Amino acid sequence: MENIIYIQKIGEIDQAALIKLKKNLNPLFKEFIDKVKVSPDTITLEDSDYHKSRRQYNASSIIRKLIKHVNNKEYFRTLGVMDNDIYTRKLNFVFGIAIVPKPQFMKSEGVALISITRLRETFYRREDDETLFDLRVLKEAIHELGHTFGLRHCDNHCIMQFSNHLADTDKKPPEFCESCQKELKLIINTIK
Ligand SMILES: [Zn+2]
Ligand SMILES: [Zn+2]
Repeated sequence: MENIIYIQKIGEIDQAALIKLKKNLNPLFKEFIDKVKVSPDTITLEDSDYHKSRRQYNASSIIRKLIKHVNNKEYFRTLGVMDNDIYTRKLNFVFGIAIVPKPQFMKSEGVALISITRLRETFYRREDDETLFDLRVLKEAIHELGHTFGLRHCDNHCIMQFSNHLADTDKKPPEFCESCQKELKLIINTIK
């Protein structure tokens, strides 16, 4: 079986952004996986996922939907990508969330979700910066995918640093530090 990371479209989102993400993710994970693919279908957002007064979508209910969607598909890893603002019970907003699989399910239960809405300069009424936007999307994607392989937050100069603000995202490099890289290799070698 090929180890493929699927990028899953959720709701209305620019296809070009997904294709760019796919291209950017490929070199980073190439020693661990076979390829990155954009899945052809879309998960539709529903009213029940939306919090009217917050005007945000519930990240936990969407990731549950994503899990259901990939159930039995034997996807190695799935990254849901959406362009609507998301929150969790404890946080006003999140850039992304991930399900860290239990070791015995490491092979097939890695699912993560990111929202690209707050990664755009225009969200903060600043001038659009596409290069910066693409880099932020890539960073959030790598970070959440890192969690799906069991990586935890890291204090090194590393993509696995926790981001509470966009400035944190901008500060961290789009790659794993040496120790996370080692851990990732170890994990992937045991599940392949
Ligand atoms: Zn994290
Ligand atoms: Zn690290």
